[in-house]
Amino acid sequence: MPPPGAQNEIVAQGIAASQGIAYGQVFLYIKSDVEFPSYQIDPGKRMEEIARFEQALLVTRQQIQKIQAEVEKNLGSEEARIFDAHLLVLEDEALIAETIREFEQTSKNVEVCFNNVSQRYISAFAEIDDEYLRERAGDIRDVAQRVIQNLLGQTGQNLACLADKRIIVANDITPSDAAGIDRSRAIAIVTDGGSKTSHAVIVARSMRCPAIVGLRDLTKRVKDGDWIIVDGYDGSVILNPSEQTLFRYGKIQLQKRGVEQRLHEANRRPSITLDGIPVPLRANIEKVDELQLVKDNCAEGVGLFRSEYLYLRDRRIPTEQEQYLAYKTAAESMDGAPVTIRTLDLGGDKPMPGNPDMFSPEANPFLGFRAIRFCLEHVDLFKDQLRAILRASAHGKVLLMYPMISGAREFDRANAILDECRAELRRSATPFDETMQVGAMIEIPGAAATVDILARKSGFFSIGTNDLIQYTLAIDRGNDRIAHLYEPTHPAILRIIDTVVAEAHKQKRKVSVCGEMASDPVYAALLLGLGVDELSMTPPLIAPVKYLVRAMKMTDARALAAKALKKESPEEIYAMCEKFTNERMMVE
Ligand code: PEP
Ligand code: MG
Repeated sequence: MPPPGAQNEIVAQGIAASQGIAYGQVFLYIKSDVEFPSYQIDPGKRMEEIARFEQALLVTRQQIQKIQAEVEKNLGSEEARIFDAHLLVLEDEALIAETIREFEQTSKNVEVCFNNVSQRYISAFAEIDDEYLRERAGDIRDVAQRVIQNLLGQTGQNLACLADKRIIVANDITPSDAAGIDRSRAIAIVTDGGSKTSHAVIVARSMRCPAIVGLRDLTKRVKDGDWIIVDGYDGSVILNPSEQTLFRYGKIQLQKRGVEQRLHEANRRPSITLDGIPVPLRANIEKVDELQLVKDNCAEGVGLFRSEYLYLRDRRIPTEQEQYLAYKTAAESMDGAPVTIRTLDLGGDKPMPGNPDMFSPEANPFLGFRAIRFCLEHVDLFKDQLRAILRASAHGKVLLMYPMISGAREFDRANAILDECRAELRRSATPFDETMQVGAMIEIPGAAATVDILARKSGFFSIGTNDLIQYTLAIDRGNDRIAHLYEPTHPAILRIIDTVVAEAHKQKRKVSVCGEMASDPVYAALLLGLGVDELSMTPPLIAPVKYLVRAMKMTDARALAAKALKKESPEEIYAMCEKFTNERMMVE
């Protein structure tokens, strides 16, 4: 640890995205396509160049083996198996021989030759009409990047196996990076870009570790190993903290821990308002490993199982059986409490790595080929998932919901495919819950505006405010440049939620909110006042929301919402909500 205050203290301000305070060393993670120079090799230096290539292959092999061993130790042998395919790429004689041939013909430096050959392989594999072989394109791309980095003498990085407890400081963290973060060693996550609802943040919240986004150029201002403070309450990062600052943060941390402790103790009690209205608080999860967290945090079942993480984690499409086993485990472990499984929401900000043919680049991925649109065009893949969910429904209380529904036609088409799956299972006498509820997520204004039509078909609704806000206000949820305009208390959002709830209730359909808004006590009272029946959030955030529920009257929350609906300014609505919450959450 450096002596505090050895250099001038610098404060960088970003957007607080996950609460908590961390002090530790930076693990700098820069995501970019590797850039390399192109030059001619003198005839006398040819042998040297080939030896340089062989050395890079050797170093890459050692690195991958080391990562594989660490992943096996930290995450298990199944996760470690993905690296077998990477090692096979390094042994591919054709790839190596072709690179050397290209070098002999062109005399270009070996980075250029290897890149040309591997790019040809990637394109060829990506076009093959065989799923397994197509996935090899992703493996070749990963390995090729690593080999080129080694040729250039750059150190490769991997968030899945940090050497020690570290603060990840990244320019960008993709959902597949986020899925692989070493949860035992990452103590905070800080990014140059991103927003409060980006997936790295969702992962940070589920790990109960502080996160800050929108720090612009922080990755250029820190080095690997620098000591920094991350204040996830006010969104600041402090480089070279002075002794006084460290002391101040030490005190804050102790205080906050005390508050957390008290919230946690209160969390064992039922989620019921002072005037006797029960408010089910459910959990958002991405992996089966999080089921223990659901229980530890006293959630009443799972309100959102983001099933795409099974795909993102393994960077391949899981089989029906693999999915069934994951959903069955979830259903069984909840002892009769609901498990709401959302069908695949890939694409948009969650492209599936290594499948360029399925997810080709799009000008507007958020408005593009994602989620239910993707599933309706990949019916076989969709049916595998639907059958897996139906089969799991025989083992507990499973609910199914479709993401990114824009209107009734999509819902009908998805349901027709679900009916085919039901028929197939009946034919093979495979048990499933014939009464399993099927619902729609409300994330697109088109669905919100037609919720009365959808309510005739949909058993329940879950409002995904992360996307609903982005599509209603035309604010890219991942763009830090406009993050200040991403306002959950915008009157448009309140009106939409109000209408959705009113129309759904007319037809006796329950409405849940599973976007990040539900997990913030400042918004939770407003949502409940607007008539939302249930809230679903990352498990560690249940305690503060439950504390609020138990400290408020539903009649007061309704009055708050009625008043808020008459206001014009998002700031004014926010201030009202904050006052309401602060008055009732005097835990500090
Ligand atoms: C949402 O959009 O609010 C939601 C819960 O889905 P995701 O964050 O996975 O897009
Ligand atoms: Mg969404």
